[in-house]
Amino acid sequence: MKHKHNQFDMSQAKGLDAGQAESLFSRIGQSFRKSHQNEQRETQAIDAEEAKRLVDCFETANLGWFWSTDRSGRLIYISANTAKAVGKDISELVGSSFADLFETSENDAEQNRSLRFILTKHRKFADIPFKTADVEEDIWWDLTGIPQFDRDGEFDGFVGIGKDVTERICAKQEESRLAHYDSLTGLSNRALMSKKLDSTLSAFKQQKRACALLQIDLDRFKLINDTLGHPAGDTLLKNVADRLMRLLSGRGEVARVGGDEFQVLLPDWDDRGELSDLADAIISSLSQPYTVEGSRCVIGASVGIAISPFDGRVPEDLIRSADMSLYAAKGAGRGRFSFFSEKLLEAVNERKILEDDLRDALNRNEIELHYQPLVKSKTDKVSCFEALMRWNHHERGSISPGIFVPIAEETKLVLELGTWAIQRACQDAMLWPGKVRVAVNVSPIQFADPSLPKIVEQALKSSGLHPDRLELEITESVFLEETAETEEMFASLKRLGVRLALDDFGTGYSSLSYLQNAPFDKIKIDQSFVRGSNKPGSRNGAIIAAIVALADALKMDTTAEGIEAHDELAWIKSLNVSQIQGYIYSKPIVQEEVLGHFGSGEWKIEPEGPALQRDDRMSIFRKVRIIFGDSYEAAVVRNLSKSGALIEGLICLPERTKLVVDLGDGQLAVATVRRTNDNQMGVEFEQRLINDGFGGLCTRRRVSPYLIAAAGLPDAKSVQLAIS
Ligand code: C2E
Ligand code: MG
Ligand code: MG
Repeated sequence: MKHKHNQFDMSQAKGLDAGQAESLFSRIGQSFRKSHQNEQRETQAIDAEEAKRLVDCFETANLGWFWSTDRSGRLIYISANTAKAVGKDISELVGSSFADLFETSENDAEQNRSLRFILTKHRKFADIPFKTADVEEDIWWDLTGIPQFDRDGEFDGFVGIGKDVTERICAKQEESRLAHYDSLTGLSNRALMSKKLDSTLSAFKQQKRACALLQIDLDRFKLINDTLGHPAGDTLLKNVADRLMRLLSGRGEVARVGGDEFQVLLPDWDDRGELSDLADAIISSLSQPYTVEGSRCVIGASVGIAISPFDGRVPEDLIRSADMSLYAAKGAGRGRFSFFSEKLLEAVNERKILEDDLRDALNRNEIELHYQPLVKSKTDKVSCFEALMRWNHHERGSISPGIFVPIAEETKLVLELGTWAIQRACQDAMLWPGKVRVAVNVSPIQFADPSLPKIVEQALKSSGLHPDRLELEITESVFLEETAETEEMFASLKRLGVRLALDDFGTGYSSLSYLQNAPFDKIKIDQSFVRGSNKPGSRNGAIIAAIVALADALKMDTTAEGIEAHDELAWIKSLNVSQIQGYIYSKPIVQEEVLGHFGSGEWKIEPEGPALQRDDRMSIFRKVRIIFGDSYEAAVVRNLSKSGALIEGLICLPERTKLVVDLGDGQLAVATVRRTNDNQMGVEFEQRLINDGFGGLCTRRRVSPYLIAAAGLPDAKSVQLAIS
């Protein structure tokens, strides 16, 4: 029998070259088979004894092993070493099916790559790796087989060689794992995620299915990495990966795509209500404290959400949209999520312009302080004012601190603005009655600045304000890095004699341990915590009561923020909160107005507001379309809440009429007219809107552009389709 050398690659059989090995093999094969079959035929081959000796030598040198089967694929010969390696006795193996010794993956079976199939072909095969079946550890053999034919040319079984290639295969598998998985967290890496995104989107395009992509970025991770060291950072990332996996539990694909960046792919997710719930859950889970190498640390997370096909039909577009939403979420103050919308593109540009303008704002005298009263809850008398910064932009008019303070923080301009605010507030407060305090917000960036105590001292000195009348409002984010500097800062501020208030309690991690460790004089309970605390099922009421009790015991004041309606006021008063701040008493006012109220030396405010707290209404001006019957009319939304809208337009429909409000971007809200007057109608939505994570509202679902395209026309037709 003649074989070509390359078909019989025995180069692994060190010491024997391929030519030697071939002839050796051929000789051994033939003679050994014959001796086994007890055939007495004379051959040109070496005798059985010699063959056996050579086989033994070859096998014991671990160069490989021989195998031989009969025509039905049953083993005739297998080396003792091999039998041992697969944990079987040689007598068990001889006579059994050779193919059964190896595993057949589904894939192999489908593609006719199983050994069983190959053996049926009666053709040569070389160096095909197979995994041993029924053994605990992975053992891989490379098999080479040569069919044997008898004198009549009838197939007579196989003779072959096997080599242990476990090490090589495992190394290859590891290499491929490393190429596709993140070695630190075990999650898919960017390359694998990008493949999955690619295949999902192209399949879904055919099937007209939707899918969501979440881009997650950790807030303040860099800080932990820099201060606690890289091993700590690594542990933290592993914890983050665990939390994400637990949260998503099979609902989507999670990947780590960069240092502290993660991606989640959610096939068939397009309900923005469910997505916002999930994003909220992710943010709150990742924001829980971590214990890393004995120290406690807290990070945050921001999430950008893009949904295909709406926000991109190919991976690049969808990723760009998700990235942009993430950027928006971070820009809006971090710890938030944001859906993609065209508005974001504008917002990104806007932000750049604002950032430039903010640098000149102080010089242009565009920054002001307004003062909002805090009243004693027992007497309704004003005991303090919170200084709230206002920016009167020369072109845009008033810009909310919710927008410009985060920009100021990112650009460090907050140091300059903050210093100005402290000085200004001290000067203004000097003109108020002697016991009335002023509270100034201090950004964590200012708090981390070692010159803050000096700045405060200077402001007190130059204005002459008694330190006890100045209160600094600090948010709990200053505890995120509980360092020696934090403690030192608290101590130096307390040495100056100023008061410290913990602001926005209830919005973040709300750990009561802050209260024990830091010298606060007041806790300000955030309006989001207060809101709805009197509604059945809310546990916030009980928590507020507990905070008040604790604060009383620690001799701290408590302030409830954002009280607007009488029902809330009564409830908050019943919880014994010591001070109240909110529109029900007064909005923030300018200094002249403050001075005007102190004619008699004190200012008692009569609370004034709605009887009941309602859904936050947003005063807006938004162009929409109203769909009713065959008409599709332009209109303007003046007022929007989750449950309804005030719409102004040419058409005014009678009460109880059903219509559809097209809010743009495929957002269609089915609504019923509840009130009408002149050219305005108040409508109630059938399904409540939800927060878009960006301060606005959106519908839970959108009409797919596929549907819109299918309807042929961009607007009204598709809408009819969607409602029917
Ligand atoms: P904050 O310190 O929690 O201030 C309270 C916010 O709640 C103020 O918003 C106030 O106008 C608003 N508010 C008070 N009562 C009610 C109410 O009954 N209903 C509603 N809906 N809102 C109420 P504002 O002035 O827009 O300030 C927002 C945030 O901007 C402040 O939250 C504070 O974190 C920051 N900020 C304002 N001024 C400064 C400043 O001078 N320095 C720094 N670092 N941050 C500032
Ligand atoms: Mg405040
Ligand atoms: Mg607050």
